[in-house]
Amino acid sequence: MITKKVPFYSLDYVTESLGRDLLSAFGGVLDSNWFIRGPRCERFEGAFAEYCGAKHGIGTGNGLDALTLMLRASIELGYLKRGDEVIVPANTFIATVLAVCAAGLVPVLVDPDRETCNLDVSLLEGACSERTRAILMVHLYGRLADMPAICEFAKAKGLLVFEDAAQAHGAKIDRNGGSVAAAYSFYPTKNLGALGDGGMVVTDDAELARMVRMLGNYGSERKYVNKYVGVNSRLDEVQAAILLEKLPHLDGWNARRREIAARYCSEIKNPLVRVTPVPANPLSHVWHVFPVFCERRDELQTFLASRGIETLVHYPIPPHLQDAFTGASASLLRHGALPVAEELARTELSIPMGPGLGNDQISYVIDALNEF
Ligand SMILES: *Cc1c(COP(=O)(O)O)cnc(C)c1O
Repeated sequence: MITKKVPFYSLDYVTESLGRDLLSAFGGVLDSNWFIRGPRCERFEGAFAEYCGAKHGIGTGNGLDALTLMLRASIELGYLKRGDEVIVPANTFIATVLAVCAAGLVPVLVDPDRETCNLDVSLLEGACSERTRAILMVHLYGRLADMPAICEFAKAKGLLVFEDAAQAHGAKIDRNGGSVAAAYSFYPTKNLGALGDGGMVVTDDAELARMVRMLGNYGSERKYVNKYVGVNSRLDEVQAAILLEKLPHLDGWNARRREIAARYCSEIKNPLVRVTPVPANPLSHVWHVFPVFCERRDELQTFLASRGIETLVHYPIPPHLQDAFTGASASLLRHGALPVAEELARTELSIPMGPGLGNDQISYVIDALNEF
């Protein structure tokens, strides 16, 4: 048998199609002699905010900082106060939970829906206490959470809504009456990735935008005049220049991800392997990750590896079972039983996904999954 190699994710497709443009963008920054908070960052902030349908974009050093600064700015503006509870899905990348803690807020973990892997709206009511003030939804794997239902619930309860959109660049988000702000990451392997770390907060709220910018710049608007206890978290000119080159291609790359996902969803037919469905509006999913679920996950991973197919697990240990949040630190967050999050962590396997995959590679992965 011929074993091919199918990488989990390769950025060769970017280098092959845009390599020269990226080099000349880098050269432009070098020639400009200006590396932090310059014209390229400003242009990219405007372009990405517009792409998201938001009025303001504020570049940050990474996605975790974007999340943290979005919440910290909300505290400085009096929208939230330290010690308030924020509802967060129990199955997410750890950064979502870390950001809530770092801002001095208390994460309340809520089990996800088994099909969509996003917040289970029917569990929100039971998770609320008199200290609950906000919901930080995550568009996990690139699938938009049920924003209309979450926003309606939040409105009825007087809660604010925030988004962790670090996996959902380009998913069609209707911002009208929705969230206060969304945080993005430009980690290299995200759907829109830099050549290093980067992040952004997008919002329609001009005051929040100004506060995020200030907090990410030592709490200062005017050099050497510090109004807040800020941090240093800015998007540099090199990353902004690279991201400006890549942004016009994002929709095309996401369309290719949807094509691949549609094939996986219709052609994976092994009863041992469960896939998550294409949403009613296909544009509301950008398939950052294509997850499958299997009770014999580790065996499946080994089987695929023997065929040269690389896979990853997103994520093997849910936040509430991490050492960071057990023992003495357990009081940093609040949660009840989380059977669905634990089941997903035990059974999830992410199979190759990315615009660079060829049709023959996809067929090869599908055949292997069906043979298992
Ligand atoms: C990647 C990611 C982050 C953090 O982004 P970094 O830029 O790596 O700090 C936060 N939340 C989610 C859901 C992510 O996938």
